[in-house]
Amino acid sequence: MKKVLTFIIVLLVLIGVVLGITTLIKKESEPKLEDLIKTTEEDNFSIEDYSIFGTHLNMSGCIDKTISGDLSLVLKNLENEITIDSKFENKNGKTCFSISEKNNDGLYLDGLDTGEYILYVKDTIKGEKDIDESKYYTIDNKSIYDNFEYYTITRNNTNNKIEMTFNELTDKEINKKYTKFTIKEEKLPDDIYDITLDAGHGGNDPGTNNTLDGVTYYEANYTLDIALALEKILEDAGLKVKMTRTTDVNLPFYDDGGRAVIPNEVKSKYSFSIHLNSSEGVMSYGGVEVYTPNDINYELATKIANSVATLVGYSLKPSDKVLDGVYYTYFNENEIQKSKKDMESNGMKPYDIKVGAPEMYMIREVGGINTKAYIDGRNEYYGLNKYYNSNQTPEPYLLELAYMNYPSDLQKLVSSREQFAEAIGSGIKEYLNIS
Ligand SMILES: [Zn+2]
Repeated sequence: MKKVLTFIIVLLVLIGVVLGITTLIKKESEPKLEDLIKTTEEDNFSIEDYSIFGTHLNMSGCIDKTISGDLSLVLKNLENEITIDSKFENKNGKTCFSISEKNNDGLYLDGLDTGEYILYVKDTIKGEKDIDESKYYTIDNKSIYDNFEYYTITRNNTNNKIEMTFNELTDKEINKKYTKFTIKEEKLPDDIYDITLDAGHGGNDPGTNNTLDGVTYYEANYTLDIALALEKILEDAGLKVKMTRTTDVNLPFYDDGGRAVIPNEVKSKYSFSIHLNSSEGVMSYGGVEVYTPNDINYELATKIANSVATLVGYSLKPSDKVLDGVYYTYFNENEIQKSKKDMESNGMKPYDIKVGAPEMYMIREVGGINTKAYIDGRNEYYGLNKYYNSNQTPEPYLLELAYMNYPSDLQKLVSSREQFAEAIGSGIKEYLNIS
């Protein structure tokens, strides 16, 4: 009996050992993502700068030597290789890449499939008989920014979470730094939103006004009503919308609860500030003006402008016009010098204003480094925009929907605010390709 028991125990131990070894071997032989790194070139590229604006990632970087090959930026894993549209150039003994000159036109993050990828520079080389002998360079991070985390816009009630992380692989013979993308389906956390809507003015600041048939109309009432109607339209399309205000109150600009801070606090991908225009005297024209960030493609702005123009037409204002109904107003060198003098004469420290910085704070300060924000807390009077230096921000727009002092525009507003919300909503939905 004792012998049988011993035999069984020995047998069980043996089975255990064999099973253990086979799983170990299996694990060893199954290729891992990180194994790809072991076959890459010895030296590497380095990210020098990167930013996320709205739904797009932009990036630039270099390697300390000249490579004259067929270079491309790729995201690669064991099954797939995604080529990222990019440009390469040789300068001063370096080879450098960049994704896009336009802030909102880099790698479209919402278009990436789930999975884990490593970011490489690929030098495509075809050997004899078309055998692929391409070389891969890993990419490390020399920018001042650390890892990023991003949630895609809600579609069909789902989101992807994207993490770009900077890692190091240390093995017996290799030591390599690399950049990894991890993309998985994950529900939007409670405090993160797709879009922020800001109803301009409110409370002790009624904005502009005009009187029609003996009744005085105030901008702040219309901006709020339109924003609330738009909130419902976008939510009905499945988007998660954050409002800067939902009642007749005024808000600070930059401090906690500030209009320009909220869109960043909730990590929204877009921010729309809603206003109505006015000018001195009675206008000879009305129409829509969509104000935009700098250095962008105007696809979204154009869609909103076209849509609102079906109600009130395009503004005929010639200055700062980029396209029909699309405007970009920014600081030039003269204005910067003047602002510097004005601030100094008022006992304030001049801001570091860069040429091309949008004049409207709801665009400039919401967009962080992408829109050359500068409210860095040096003057107590203006406070601090704690996101002025952020490289991951919403893509911000300011909509001057119509002129309150152009009679037919005001008539349109008075007769139907809902139509303006619908027009903006259909422009946004068309751009995002959601219904
Ligand atoms: Zn306004």
